[in-house]
Amino acid sequence: MAEYVSCEWIENGMDFDVGVYGSNIMECCYVSCPGGGNIMLKRDFDGSAIDWEEFWKLKNHYRNIQKSGQTVKECTDCVFLRKDNWEEGNHIKSIIFDHFTKCNCDCVYCYTHDDKHKYNTLKSYNVLPIIKDMVERGIFIPGGQIGFGGGEPTMLDEFEDLINYLLDNGFDNISIPTSAIKYSPVIEKGVAMGAVNVQNSIDSGRRETFAMIKGIDAYDTVIENMRRYSSKKAENYNVISKYIICPGYNDMKREADLWLETCEKIGIKMLMLSVENIWLKAHRHEGNKRIVDLIRYILEKGQSMFPYCEGENHVMQLLSGVEKDNQ
Ligand code: SF4
Ligand code: SF4
Repeated sequence: MAEYVSCEWIENGMDFDVGVYGSNIMECCYVSCPGGGNIMLKRDFDGSAIDWEEFWKLKNHYRNIQKSGQTVKECTDCVFLRKDNWEEGNHIKSIIFDHFTKCNCDCVYCYTHDDKHKYNTLKSYNVLPIIKDMVERGIFIPGGQIGFGGGEPTMLDEFEDLINYLLDNGFDNISIPTSAIKYSPVIEKGVAMGAVNVQNSIDSGRRETFAMIKGIDAYDTVIENMRRYSSKKAENYNVISKYIICPGYNDMKREADLWLETCEKIGIKMLMLSVENIWLKAHRHEGNKRIVDLIRYILEKGQSMFPYCEGENHVMQLLSGVEKDNQ
């Protein structure tokens, strides 16, 4: 162990990314880092065997920069940097599967919205053989976080087998964002074990609004599937419903009220509030009184109804920025 400033992705993480930047293995998926992020570990990756010697040589190059007290240029001012006691040894503990290759939704705020066909036909590969190889070699070990960052995970051909394999091998911190249009038995199993967190961004309280934002008439299916996941949940409230405020689509109190009421009816205990990113970037500093009031209204009402109802970091930053401006 050695104490220095670093992050779990530099130390023990990797991101299998297929999407706008091609098919690559990256250090992490945090593209909003002020330093630029997007640190490449293997370019043009096609799923074939990884040369681990080469992989660790590059990864340790970045680790050593942090160990020396400097900061990797691309990580400058990253919110994930922290001083900690980092373990020696070449292990991967955290993995993101960022396969933007298939989705059964067409959210207006998703970057795949501009060319859905292109993303839904991107060439991909199966990660399960690589994961099995990593586990068998003792390279990939439990202890970190596993997540999905793009597309609809349940649409991947290997999804059920992949999650079953991870659960069978002791990985118990798996986050799965899903459109919840397709029901997944392995999500149900992982939720019941308390090893899977499932999040669905429904962004609406009505069928019509859902269809307008998501480009598909599937509100009732999503509600039913979330109700089923929720009925299996372990003690730790690991079924999450999210509402991304998209100004012009769902920025009405009545819509948000219906979302809260529906969540209560189907047994969801954990709620997240967010604001659509492009709108937020344009209004980051001055805010927008109506949206800020709506955020406050939803959080206050949600917190009175549920054990957990919070805004994502950038929502809280927006509120605190507005509060500072008013002082
Ligand atoms: S410090 Fe930030 S940008 Fe750098 S690897 Fe970690 S999460 Fe990614
Ligand atoms: S469900 Fe996710 S990946 Fe699919 S369109 Fe919506 S935001 Fe994009």
